[in-house]
Parts: sequence; C-alpha cells; structure tokens
Amino acid sequence: MELKNMDKIVNLCKSRGFVFPGSEIYGGFANTWDFGPVGVELKNNIKRAWWKRFVQEPPNSYGADASILMNPMVWQASGHAQSFSDPKMDCKSCKQRFRADNLVEEFSKGTVAAEAMTNEELEKYINENKIKCPHCGNFNWTPIRQFKLMFETSRGTLEGEKDVVYLRPETAQGVYVNFLNLQRTTRAKLPFSVAQIGKSFRNEVTPGNFLFRTIEFEQMEHQTFCKAEDAFEIYEETKKRALQFAEDVGLKEENLRFHDHDKLAFYAKAACDIQYRFPIGWEELNGIHHRSQHDLSKHQEYSGKSMVYVDPVTNEKFVPTVVEYAIGADRLTLAVLCEAYDEETLENGETRVVLHFNPAIAPYKVAVLPLQKNLSDKAKEVYSLLAKQFMCDFDDAGSIGKRYRREDEIGTPFCVTVDFETLENNTVTIRDRDTMQQIRLNISEIVPYISEKIIFN
Ligand code: ATP
Repeated sequence: MELKNMDKIVNLCKSRGFVFPGSEIYGGFANTWDFGPVGVELKNNIKRAWWKRFVQEPPNSYGADASILMNPMVWQASGHAQSFSDPKMDCKSCKQRFRADNLVEEFSKGTVAAEAMTNEELEKYINENKIKCPHCGNFNWTPIRQFKLMFETSRGTLEGEKDVVYLRPETAQGVYVNFLNLQRTTRAKLPFSVAQIGKSFRNEVTPGNFLFRTIEFEQMEHQTFCKAEDAFEIYEETKKRALQFAEDVGLKEENLRFHDHDKLAFYAKAACDIQYRFPIGWEELNGIHHRSQHDLSKHQEYSGKSMVYVDPVTNEKFVPTVVEYAIGADRLTLAVLCEAYDEETLENGETRVVLHFNPAIAPYKVAVLPLQKNLSDKAKEVYSLLAKQFMCDFDDAGSIGKRYRREDEIGTPFCVTVDFETLENNTVTIRDRDTMQQIRLNISEIVPYISEKIIFN
C-alpha cells in the first residue's frame, strides 16, 4: 500500500480546523498543537469510544481521574525520578539533538535492536559505522548523555522556599497510588481493571512528526489488577482487545501489527507494542505490558501502606500483578486521520479529498444544507431538530457541490439537503459521504436513520 503524505494531512488539519500549531501568533511553540472545532470533536469521540470499550462494556472495569501533580515520592517509587531519561547526542556542527538509539535504528533500518543496547554499545556502533548527522551530514558527535524526560516545576509557600514537583509523564501512577481506595469503594474482586484518560508531559529529545510525538499529550491507560498466575492469559486477552479496538475505530488490519519488545524492563514478564503504518513508517501506537507486582510493591515499599489483597475465597494474601495497556489519544487521532484520508478522482476528472471516518467517531454526524439561501429558515428548523441528537453542521454559503466537498474534507458521514420539495412534503435528501448516493426521507425519519449508523460497536 502506498504511504500517505503527511504534509497533505497536516495542511488539511490546519485549513479545516482539526489542529493548529500551538501559540501560532507568537511564532508557535515547537511541538505543541491546539485542537480546533472538528479536531476536538474527533478526539473526544475517540476517547468516548475507548471508554465505552474499556470501561463501560467489560464487567469489573472502572474509571478514575487522578491529579497531574502528585507527591514527588510517587516518582521516586516508580523509578521515574531516577531513570526516566533517553540517551541523547548532539551534533557539534549543526547543534541538532538526536536520540542515539534512533540513530542506530534508522541507520540499521531496524535490523539492530537499539532499545536493548547500553550507551557504550550505542556509542561504539555509531563510531564504528561512522553514522552521520541526519540534519547536516557531518560526523561530529558529542558523547552520549542521559536526557531527563520529566518536566519539573516548583511549588513554594514562602518566598525563596521551593519544592520541586513534576508534571506527570504518564497517568498510570495515579491509578496505582489509588489502588486501596479503588478496591475498597468498588468492592471489586480480582481481576479488575481501572482506566484513566488524561494529560501527560514529556520533555522529549526528538519530538516531531505532527501529533505523533509531542511534549504534552493525552494518554488512555488501562490497568488490570490480577493474580500472578492469571497475568499471561490477561496479557494475551488485552492484546486482542487492543487490536480489535484499533480496527473498530477505523484502522485497517493490514496497517496494524504486533511488535514484541526486544528488551524487557527488569520487572516485566512480557511487553509488546501494536504498531501502525504511519506515513513515517511502522511506529508504536500503543504498548501492552505484563508488569508483575512491581508497581504496587514499590508503592508499598515507599509509602509504608500495605497493598496486600486478601482473596475472599482462598484467604490468600498477596500484592496484585498489573497488566497495562497504554495508548496516546493524540497519536491514535493522528493514525485515524491518516487512515481516513483519501483522494478520489471523480467522473468529471476533479479530485475530491475525503476523510472516511467510522461514522461513530466523525466530528459532525450530519450537515444540514439548504439548497438555496431562501430555504435557510426551513433548514434551520431541521438543524434544531437534529442538533438535539447529534453534533450537526450548518452551511448555507456557496454552491451545493462545494459544500458537499467541504463536508467530505471533515469526514461528515451524512449531508441533509433541504430543497423546494421539502416545503411541499417535508422530505429531504440524505447524501452518503462514501458512496455519494442520495436517498429521500421524511424529516421524521432522519434521526432513526442516522442513529443506527453511528453506534460504536
Ligand atoms: P515511544 O517509544 O514512542 O517514546 P513509549 O514506549 O515511551 O513511546 P509509553 O510510555 O508506553 O510510550 O506510552 C504509552 C503511549 O503513549 C504510547 O504508545 C503512545 O501512544 C503515547 N505516547 C508516548 N509518548 C508520547 C509523546 N511524546 N507524544 C504523543 N504520544 C505519546
């Protein structure tokens, strides 16, 4: 399959109100992006679909929403304060900064498992192979240094007195530290899951590629607490459900694949990513990890609070194991945009740009278009009726053909056109975005017609 063009997707996103460069009027702020009217709808719909699939539908699944700022001890216990960093090298000629593991991966075209190499091994490989700077082409590197990924800020109550606090680099810890509260209030028996959607922050060495890697992003994370002996089965089930969700939200099977990690964290028993074929190549979409008892044990050690679960049937006492599934909402939104983007040549030779979103996650479900301006009053009545049920667009400016094209470009699955026949018999046409076919329906039939087509199943 031909890879899609990222520049065209970025341009469409900017011109149609999906995503704008952050702080643009001040010249921007690198690798921050702001969601516009259709972008925020798309991302919210993706988050809702994820919540439905991972919190609403499965039994024994709950939601939480923890604070971004946490007691700094949390990051001591999790290990982030000590070791959440990437190996970076600077090019002394052009001053550009790179991740050493990425340099090796790109040079070896993925044949060398750079993530499993130590800094010494990375440096040796780069020197032996004389890997040049991808930006200026020189071979003039600084030694590797570890680059801290957590953003620090400070909280002071008295002038001059400041305590360092961190912007969380992942949401998962908010669930782990609440394990006792969550288990007590839900009275859930193992295995049970807790999901959370929220902002995370990482001072990335090499952010870029639009929404793919940013310094502030949303994560959707799902932790299953279980007995150690059940964890591998749950890990496999989680892999399947994560893949199914990616397909259901609109990503094609042929553009998704599992990638087992070459190097496991010392505590992990298994770890893999689902990769998506982005326009920049196969890249991680989400991670799934069997994390053993590490997280709760560490919080037990650092907080002094027992994280022991007592099995109500066997009376066994143990610290639960965690299976985690984590996916970036922004990265998934990018994948969905890439998959949906299409350029079609029409019979008249014109090109139409269309976003073939799954209707369940499309920003607007329906657009109401009066054929002519003097039909606007009737069209507004139809809009008011539909807007009670769905996110609806209204457009009465320009030729009907151009308006259909605009709706195609933001992926609106249905266009309702109010014409002169509407005034006579209360019927409208409904145009399908993908087939461009139109049918005629009574106004009272529109809501049920659309409702059954936009369910996320
Ligand atoms: P990567 O290898 O791409 O840096 P990671 O393995 O560090 O990612 P995790 O810590 O497992 O990522 O985070 C879970 C998910 O959060 C990732 O799969 C990705 O979808 C998303 N994510 C992580 N970092 C970023 C980022 N800087 N920008 C956007 N999304 C991100």
